Amino acid sequence: MQILVTGGAGYIRARVCVELLKKSYTVIIADNLSNSRIETVEKIKQLAGKDDVIFYKIDVTDASALKSIFLSHKVAAVIHLAGFKAIGESLEKPLKYYYNNTVSTMTLAEACIKYDVKKFVFSSSATVYGENKVPFVETMELRPAANPYGATKAMSERILSDVARANPGFSVSLLRYFNPVGAHESGLIGEAPKGVPNNLMPCLTRVARGKMEKLRVFGNDYPTVDGTGVRDYIHVVDLAEGHVAVLEKLAPGVHIYNLGTGKGTSVLELIRAFEEANKIKVPYEIVGRRPGDIAECYADVNKARRELGWKAKRGLLEMCRDAWNFEKNYRE
Ligand code: UDP
Repeated sequence: MQILVTGGAGYIRARVCVELLKKSYTVIIADNLSNSRIETVEKIKQLAGKDDVIFYKIDVTDASALKSIFLSHKVAAVIHLAGFKAIGESLEKPLKYYYNNTVSTMTLAEACIKYDVKKFVFSSSATVYGENKVPFVETMELRPAANPYGATKAMSERILSDVARANPGFSVSLLRYFNPVGAHESGLIGEAPKGVPNNLMPCLTRVARGKMEKLRVFGNDYPTVDGTGVRDYIHVVDLAEGHVAVLEKLAPGVHIYNLGTGKGTSVLELIRAFEEANKIKVPYEIVGRRPGDIAECYADVNKARRELGWKAKRGLLEMCRDAWNFEKNYRE
């Protein structure tokens, strides 16, 4: 069975491809390589021990490029993971985010309808909950996203839900990711953003490597356990396994799942876990809050457990160990 994965050469996406290959799916990757590397495709094959990967360097907003993929392959389902994802950049360049992230979703959905592909899995984000009461539950009314990135995810969710309603038999799964960290245990696939990292874990590993003097902790005056921001960090391998669980349960209609652990961790707790897991000191300083950040964000994970039989298995120490292991391997 052939699955089209957009953005398949990225960090989370590569891991999803490995899991799909392990389950004997054929993977077609469509990626413009704007924030990923072509070498990842070889690593995917190597890790899965399989060759069933077809790569297209295309932009998902390009309808004619998509058309040629749909005409050349019998695509059974689409997993749409491509998209820009830096919150800070989305505040500086909102049009880049609104255009790319929503047009790619619409172009892909249109191609699915046209070529009779009825299964669509979308990587959304916990940011769609906005400033809501934790833990975030799928049935909650969404609050306005705190930044353009989150708004593009909420818009894409809405677009796909409307498409599913207008096309009986169409199946849409909206996966709300919490904070993916870690790497494959081999250290071959992990988070290697081009340019300066924004997310906490890549900043942390940079400091641990001595490439940054101190980690900047954005705010210690939030109403949280120690004043620093609380997030639900999930090991990328757990997250990838969640996609396969979803794919195997696709039914017509709109289905929303939180992919998180259900456990909140503060920035200082993550620093301590990293130090303990890797026996490395991470110097840090408290600075002002980062615009667009919320205080707390963690998942209610009951629905995924109940309906998919999936739950995250890997703990914080494992996430820290694997992230550091990747960082060392990657730099070497
Ligand atoms: N954070 C931080 N220093 C950094 C990067 C992030 O203190 O260099 C904090 C951030 O304010 C948030 C948490 O770490 O409370 C997770 O941030 P990240 O960007 O990884 O995820 P997101 O904010 O998108 O959930």
